[in-house]
Amino acid sequence: MLEPTITGSLPKPAWLATPNTLWAPWLLAGRALEEGKQDAVRLALRDQEQAGIEIVTDGEQTRRHFVWGFVEQIEGVDFSRMVTIGIRADRYQADVPTVAGAIRRRASIHSPEARFARAHTTRTLKLTLPGPMTIVDTINDEHYRSRPRLAMEFARLLNEEARELEQAGVDMIQLDEPAFNVYMEEVREWGIEALNRAVEGLTCRTAVHICYGYGIKANVEWKRTLGREWRQYEQTFPLLAKSRVGGVSLECANSRVPISLIGLLGDKDVLVGAIDVATDTVETPEQVAGVIRETIKHVNPARIYPCTNCGMVPLSREVARGKLRALGAGAALVRRELS
Ligand code: ZN
Repeated sequence: MLEPTITGSLPKPAWLATPNTLWAPWLLAGRALEEGKQDAVRLALRDQEQAGIEIVTDGEQTRRHFVWGFVEQIEGVDFSRMVTIGIRADRYQADVPTVAGAIRRRASIHSPEARFARAHTTRTLKLTLPGPMTIVDTINDEHYRSRPRLAMEFARLLNEEARELEQAGVDMIQLDEPAFNVYMEEVREWGIEALNRAVEGLTCRTAVHICYGYGIKANVEWKRTLGREWRQYEQTFPLLAKSRVGGVSLECANSRVPISLIGLLGDKDVLVGAIDVATDTVETPEQVAGVIRETIKHVNPARIYPCTNCGMVPLSREVARGKLRALGAGAALVRRELS
């Protein structure tokens, strides 16, 4: 009960990629890069295990960005045609590749990494993939010319990939959909359908992560415009309660999300963000426990998984390790109270 997990990413070692940077380029090349990524995965697994994290990830150490890790390998996506666009409803600018033709997977994308991680931990293993709506929002489409159609195409490829990851020994597959907190109408119209398509037929555990973004300046400023209470989840949670996905990862620590909204998730698992990724201040175990105690007023603790608000890739490794330990210790505190 109350098994801790992280959203997905951890900071990379300074010898692998420039610290505190999103989309940081690799500092190694060729064989040294492949070896460096594997070493980083080993360290990410060990740091989580030592901190008492029960559902571990590879820390996304093998991807430059959570969307690119998947999209870089897709035929039909042209990385030589980068275009600057406003993403997440123009919240910030990003250089994105262009969909120039029909998309398809050449081969399995993350299976080798999944097998490597599987071979290096005995804990429950989670792997993350970008959600279809978020991919569509982080790409320049000059082929399909329809966001719903492109999303369904990506959902089909994600589903093929997810089925192979399951075969490689992954216990839980999580789709990251920060765009679900931005395009409320589209979530209802086609976002949920694309998500359902992506997890169709999977027998492993599944989850979707919906947050208010990394702790970067553009997001911190956006949050200030969202008012006293953030009620975006109020619209999506009832839809997710009826969806195929098994659990929902959400932002709770230091957020203005009314915790009672998790009651709208029906019988889904709830991955509760109890670690704030927008501050270098490391939480105390007692603070983490405080968030968890609030959630168990609304949801059976058997369905609660203490988690981080979002990925920790922009943080320093020292801060991230401190936050991992706080998460593990905070969950243990509440487990002891309940036993
Ligand atoms: Zn996030």
